[in-house]
Amino acid sequence: MNPRHRAYQLLYQATHALRQHSQHVTLTPKTPSCACCERRWAEVEAPFQAAEYRYGKSGETEYLCLTCYTPRISSEVMLGIERMNITGNTSTEIYGKLGMLVGSGGIVTPQAELYLTLPPKLHEKYQHGEWGQQGRLSTEKPLARLIQLLVHGALAPLEDGFVYIENWGRKADGLMRQLMPTTSLHEVWCNSENGVSVLDLHAIMRTANVMSAQGIEAQAGRLAFWSPILDAAKGRRDEEAFAKWLTKVPDPAALLQALPADPYSRLRLPAVLGILMPYRQQLLPYCETATPAAAAPNLAKAASHQPEQGTLF
Ligand SMILES: [Zn+2]
Repeated sequence: MNPRHRAYQLLYQATHALRQHSQHVTLTPKTPSCACCERRWAEVEAPFQAAEYRYGKSGETEYLCLTCYTPRISSEVMLGIERMNITGNTSTEIYGKLGMLVGSGGIVTPQAELYLTLPPKLHEKYQHGEWGQQGRLSTEKPLARLIQLLVHGALAPLEDGFVYIENWGRKADGLMRQLMPTTSLHEVWCNSENGVSVLDLHAIMRTANVMSAQGIEAQAGRLAFWSPILDAAKGRRDEEAFAKWLTKVPDPAALLQALPADPYSRLRLPAVLGILMPYRQQLLPYCETATPAAAAPNLAKAASHQPEQGTLF
């Protein structure tokens, strides 16, 4: 089975109650596959069951699998009232949807339990819904919630996979088209309305430990400290700024070796380190997993040499 199916399975299971309380109509699809995730009808979580959907007012009728359709379902019971729609003398209650949680994140654990992180205003709106009453809503940043769940053991076993949604946003299609599960902290798949990106959280944890060992943990979340590294990740190398940066770090070779290799993860260093630092000690058990075999000899070599800018910077 394609590993990405696991993400859809988990989201489907976690949202069972939402569909149960809604009045959506399911029908037998007339197409070979879901119009959103493009998986074949035999492969989706509710095989050969579809929901009709139109992209835009003049769009043709498309068939979506129930998993892809779920963020588009209004839920009075699980979320609650989003707003009142007033036309003339009539006002109608509009209920919240997962696919309209702008600036909100979510985590589905390997046991298919859903946790939502919402901005305070949305949290206030939805705290009386079922999920609110079950303690599934909170107001931290999504990544902070992920780390809390991780240190509390709620994401174990990691190999079973969890789903990390960085932003539900309002484009359910962008989110559901390519939902990815995470099975390793070396590759945390950040799903959002703009698609999916991968974060090497393990390398960032390693970076946190190296900074702490060198007594510079106070710099970890500071944009100013990281700016030469961030500029280089954007393809704008500033040799002078980098040379100055080297003087601020007791053992630059060790720190450079700890950094994530990919530019996307590097760009997120200050933000992720700022969130991660308070949990650093609790996260230590997750840092003991073997470093990739190829990296080990380099690590020893780098520790005994000054970094060469061409390779490490
Ligand atoms: Zn689908």
